[in-house]
Amino acid sequence: MLVLDGKVVSKEVRESLVPRIQAFKEKSGRAPHLTVVIVGEDKASHVYVRNKKTACEALGMTSTIHALPASATQDELNEVLQRLNVDNHVDAILVQFPLPSHLSSDEVLKLVSPAKDADGLTYNSLGYFFAGRPFVSPCTPAGIMTILKHYKINVEGMRTVVVGRSNIVGKPMAHMLMEANATVTLCHSKTKNLSEYTRQADLVVVAAGRPHLLGKEDFKQGAIVIDVGMHGSGQGGKLMGDVRFEELKGWAQAASPVPGGVGPMTITTLLQNTCLLAEKRLGK
Ligand code: NAP
Repeated sequence: MLVLDGKVVSKEVRESLVPRIQAFKEKSGRAPHLTVVIVGEDKASHVYVRNKKTACEALGMTSTIHALPASATQDELNEVLQRLNVDNHVDAILVQFPLPSHLSSDEVLKLVSPAKDADGLTYNSLGYFFAGRPFVSPCTPAGIMTILKHYKINVEGMRTVVVGRSNIVGKPMAHMLMEANATVTLCHSKTKNLSEYTRQADLVVVAAGRPHLLGKEDFKQGAIVIDVGMHGSGQGGKLMGDVRFEELKGWAQAASPVPGGVGPMTITTLLQNTCLLAEKRLGK
């Protein structure tokens, strides 16, 4: 079984960004810039945000963290986003979710300009994306498409199943597979006899958020299996996915592990998106 190694692909993509960032600097006199907005004191969210900043800086991009107190009002948050939308030195904006409960993520998703939306998830961005004219594509599914491309897996004509229909993963994943000329079936929690669908598929993307939901008996021999699931409290505290990866050895053609599969590509795609948005703005 071919292991679809997200760390290897991630390294290759990050290296490919270095000359683009250099060229951008030469043309514009500054580095591509990502601003991350975070509200409140959630420790895990602050770690994620710092990791994003460090990843940007490791490639020669710049990043600022705009931290608002947990007491920030919706008007204050909206005012920050409106200012960043028109700030010429900001190429990409990311608002770290979840927000404190008194704030509306809906407002944020309406407000950030698609020309600066680093993870491509605002309503405007998704509108362009589903119309086939994306500024950038949502990070997780776009990262999966990059993994498939790296391993020369062409989905054209394939029978594919996506398990999960969230706006972050399932829906945009199904759309990207369709755009790549796969035949796509989208399954969810109300799907009856899920494995009847997954067992027919040449390629399955599992994003149900249910630890170890699927195993060998749910896939046909020779299938390609992509596991998006990420669960921190697995056996022995190890990160685990939605798929029982070990069972696939000697059965599947290829599969992505957890950890080390889709996860590393999500942040790498964020870096790629930041670079792309910066280049697009400079090209205007
Ligand atoms: P989500 O918003 O909770 O959506 C889960 C989807 O799975 C829903 O559409 C749900 O159906 C469906 N579902 C739940 N149980 C199911 C079952 N038993 N059979 C079939 N479908 C089922 O989750 P998400 O944000 O898409 O994330 C999914 C998983 O990916 C999570 O584990 C998350 O941590 C992980 N994730 C990983 C990355 C990464 O970078 N690796 C990025 C994002 C997310 P309904 O719509 O009917 O409720």
